[in-house]
Amino acid sequence: MSLRLRDTLSGEIRPLEPLEEGHVRIYSCGPTVYGPAHIGNFRSFLFADVLVRYLRYRGFRVTWVMNITDIDDKIIRGAAATGTDIGELTERWTDRFLADASALRMTSPDVLPRATQHIPDIVAMVEGLLAGDHAYRTEDGSIFFRIASWPSYGKLAKLEPDALRVGERVEADEYAKEEVRDFALWKGPKPGEPSWDTAIGPGRPGWHIECSAMSIRHLGPSFDIHTGGVDLIFPHHEDEIAQSEAATGQEFVRSWLHCAHLQMGGSKMAKSTGNIARVAELLGAGVSARALRYALIAVHYRAPLNHSDESLAAASAAVDRLDALVAALARYREERADDPSLPEELERARTTFEQALDDDLNVSAALAAVFDLVREANRRIDARSLSSADATRLADLLRELDSVLGVLQEPEETLEPELIALLDARSAARAARDWRESDRIRDELLARGVAVEDTRDGQRWRRVSEPAHA
Ligand SMILES: [Zn+2]
Repeated sequence: MSLRLRDTLSGEIRPLEPLEEGHVRIYSCGPTVYGPAHIGNFRSFLFADVLVRYLRYRGFRVTWVMNITDIDDKIIRGAAATGTDIGELTERWTDRFLADASALRMTSPDVLPRATQHIPDIVAMVEGLLAGDHAYRTEDGSIFFRIASWPSYGKLAKLEPDALRVGERVEADEYAKEEVRDFALWKGPKPGEPSWDTAIGPGRPGWHIECSAMSIRHLGPSFDIHTGGVDLIFPHHEDEIAQSEAATGQEFVRSWLHCAHLQMGGSKMAKSTGNIARVAELLGAGVSARALRYALIAVHYRAPLNHSDESLAAASAAVDRLDALVAALARYREERADDPSLPEELERARTTFEQALDDDLNVSAALAAVFDLVREANRRIDARSLSSADATRLADLLRELDSVLGVLQEPEETLEPELIALLDARSAARAARDWRESDRIRDELLARGVAVEDTRDGQRWRRVSEPAHA
């Protein structure tokens, strides 16, 4: 079986057949860095992250590019409104985006290109479009894409050929266009706005062109997968297809994947309406990053996801169950023969997990497979029917499946060597029935933020946030 993905353009669910054998090239529209991204943005980034992780789990080589939009109208307005330098503003919000992404354990894209660092690529593409008569200049030095030159315009968004750019505001200074639906590739210079002196004249890039120029720059004229939120289908991705294919004469993207909106309180999460929640604020309020990640990836990417206190609590409970099992397996010791039915159980869990993700990344079904395994593992732990080696096999499989999900505690989140030495000393004291020494070490560990509990599998420790004072 192979991975099948639903392509928005054809409307078909098709097997993934990379253009280059064994190598999948993916472009994701990234953040516009004029403020903190909200968790709706991160739903879309994390769905791409799960896709990348799953492809790597499946043995593909993946090149993942995500752009950073660091020049556009909103950025210019934001900088002017706060009296900040544009470079300073975009630097600050790029850092914040990267910090949020890392807190949510988003895989680092292989390339994070910035629009302002690709002006020559953008200019070269616009030159080609001008030469091919797909673009024209207006009096103010702007350059527009001529949609009339591209008959298949509208194929992604399924637009009628003469449809206007519904919902898009027509800037007063854009009435010089030949047609109202034409879009800006290059914006002529304006006082107080950043401008580059280039072969196509002074000015700055429009928004859509950067994604075409940077994806082609880093992935080639044709690549496998392009992702983004559904709100980017039109006009952004429609424009990307038109200008890219007009410039290269080749099919731009094999599969378009679009992530549904995140909703909160029954309506779409959007900066424009203020109906938003942000990563750092949620984490600051005590939400665990792993639970937030779980909540954002747990529903199929094409299904709407509602964010609420209840959904976060459910995610948190799910992550706790996984943690509890991992901890139980780590301390499980039983001298007995291996459980003969375990290999089949593990194979079943793995197959069900893979079949779910192969089916257009059906992550909720994949999670159901994981929790069937959790239930089964807990049952066998309670029955003491596993050998010590079986417990390791189970833990290994959980880790492997988690390389796709990214929600388990990192195994290196262990104790510092001197605390491990204390645990060992306490264990030796207990073996020697020196209860006073054992209690003394327990108190010392507690004072250093580690609570110890004695179980039939030996000592079990956990970190406590507030060290107790003796
Ligand atoms: Zn884009």
